[in-house]
Amino acid sequence: MQTIKRTRILDVLKSSEFGTTVNVKGWVRTRRGSKSVNFIALNDGSTIKNVQIVADVEKFGEETLKQITTGACLSVVGTLVESVGSGQNCEIQATEIEILGTCGSDYPMQKKGQSFEFMRQHAHMRLRTNTFGAVFRIRHNMAIAIHKYFHEHGFYYFHTPIITASDCEGAGQMFQVTTKNLYDLKKGEDGKIDYSDDFFGKQTSLTVSGQLEGELGATALGAIYTFGPTFRAENSNTPRHLAEFWMIEPEVAFNDITDNMDLAEDFIKYCVRWALDNCKDDLDFLNKMIDKTLLDRLHFVVEHDFVRLPYGEGIRILEEAIKNGHKFEFPVYWGVDLASEHERYLVEEHFKRPVILTDYPKEIKAFYMKLNDDGKTVRAMDVLFPQIGEIIGGSEREENYDKLMSRIEELHIPMKDMWWYLDTRKFGTCPHSGFGLGFERLILFVTGMQNIRDVIPFPRTPKSADF
Ligand code: ATP
Ligand code: MN
Repeated sequence: MQTIKRTRILDVLKSSEFGTTVNVKGWVRTRRGSKSVNFIALNDGSTIKNVQIVADVEKFGEETLKQITTGACLSVVGTLVESVGSGQNCEIQATEIEILGTCGSDYPMQKKGQSFEFMRQHAHMRLRTNTFGAVFRIRHNMAIAIHKYFHEHGFYYFHTPIITASDCEGAGQMFQVTTKNLYDLKKGEDGKIDYSDDFFGKQTSLTVSGQLEGELGATALGAIYTFGPTFRAENSNTPRHLAEFWMIEPEVAFNDITDNMDLAEDFIKYCVRWALDNCKDDLDFLNKMIDKTLLDRLHFVVEHDFVRLPYGEGIRILEEAIKNGHKFEFPVYWGVDLASEHERYLVEEHFKRPVILTDYPKEIKAFYMKLNDDGKTVRAMDVLFPQIGEIIGGSEREENYDKLMSRIEELHIPMKDMWWYLDTRKFGTCPHSGFGLGFERLILFVTGMQNIRDVIPFPRTPKSADF
C-alpha cells in the first residue's frame, strides 16, 4: 500500500483538488453495486457525511469486496474525482483497498431504524451510528462554546473537588466513597459506623455540586465557573435524570439576582447560537431524522427574550389553567415544588417561550439562597425550557452571616465540616450569585433527543452502569 498521509473525510469532501491521490480510513456504512463496479459509503466520524468509494470489481475481485460489509474498517488510497451522481461534490476512485478489520453479521449496528433502547444496550457500538455521531460532535461543540463564552467574559475555570466531606446539600442522595471493608464493617456502641480509620478519616461522598467551593473561588477571583461531573443517587428514573452528569456552575461576586438572570439568558443563547453556527450538518440531520421542529426551536430561543416571572405569578397562571379545565397529574398550590408538567405548561402552552421563575418559597429551596424582605421567599431563579422543563437552577446567595446561620439552624443542617464555607460570610462578605446548568439537559435541548441517556456516551442510571 502506498504511504500517504491520511486525510479526514470532512476535509476530503471540502476539497476540489480533483486528480490528486488521497488516503482515507474509516468504517463502512453500506456497500452496493453491480457486476462491474461497487460503491462503498465510508465514514470516519469527522463528519456526518460519508465519502463514496468507487471500486472496480475486476480490479479488486469478488472475494475481497465480499469482505467489505457494514461496520468493516478500511484504508483506501485513490484518486479524488468530481462526482457525477447527486449528493457529494467528489468521490474517490479506489486504487488500493486494505481491510483493516472485517465485521461479521453479528455486528449490532447492522440494521437501520433500531430502537434507542436497543442501542442503549449496545452503547459501546452505538457511537458509530449517524445519530450518535451527530449527538457527540454537538456535545463536544457545546463544551467548547461554554469554555469560550466564559473565557471571553472574564471568568476563570475553577476546579472543585469531586470527593467531598460536606453532606449539607444532598444528604440521602450522595454516593459514598470509602476504602473500608464492607464485608466487615465495625460499628461503635451507638450503632453508627466509625469512619475514623477510613481513608479520609471521615465519611466522604461524590459531590452533588461544586457550588459551595465555587463561592470560595468567586469571592476571590471575582467570577469563576466550574464544568465537571456531579453525582446524584436520586432514584429518579426519568428521561431527564442521570446518576452521573456534568454541570456548569458560574459564580460571580457582586452579581444580584437580575445580573444572574441576564448572565443565564446571554450564556444559554450564546451556546445555542454556537450550535447553529458550528454544527450545521449534524443539526440538519437531527432536524430531518429526530425532530422536525428542532431548528425552529433553536432559532426561536436565540431570537426571543425569556419571560421573567415570580413563582407566585406562575402558580396563579397554573391555578387559572385548572379552572379552565386543564388537567395536571400533580396538585398546584402556593408552596408546591413544581413538577415538570407544570413547568412545561408555563413554557410550552402559556408563554410559548423560555421562562425564568424567581422568588420561590424558601421551604422548597436550598439554605444558602438569599431571603427576600417578605421573609417567605428566596431569590432563587429556575430557567425553564420547552421540552426540558428546568434547565438551570440558581440564586443570589445569602451573604449575611447571621441570616445564613439562622436558616442553617432552622433546617438542622449538619454544618460541622462546613466552617470554611461560613468563613466567606465572616471575612469580607459580599453579595454574589450563581447557577447550575445541567450539561446533558442543554444537549437534550440542542439535539432534540428525547432521553438524557442518549446524550451522554455511557449513561449511569439506577441499576445500570455497563460500559
Ligand atoms: P430537578 O428538579 O430537575 O431534579 P434539581 O432542582 O435537583 O433538578 P439543581 O440541584 O438545581 O437541580 O441542579 C442544577 C441543574 O442540574 C438543574 O437545573 C438540571 O439542569 C441539572 N440536573 C439536576 N439533577 C440532574 C440529574 N439527576 N441529571 C441530569 N441533570 C441534572
Ligand atoms: Mn433533582
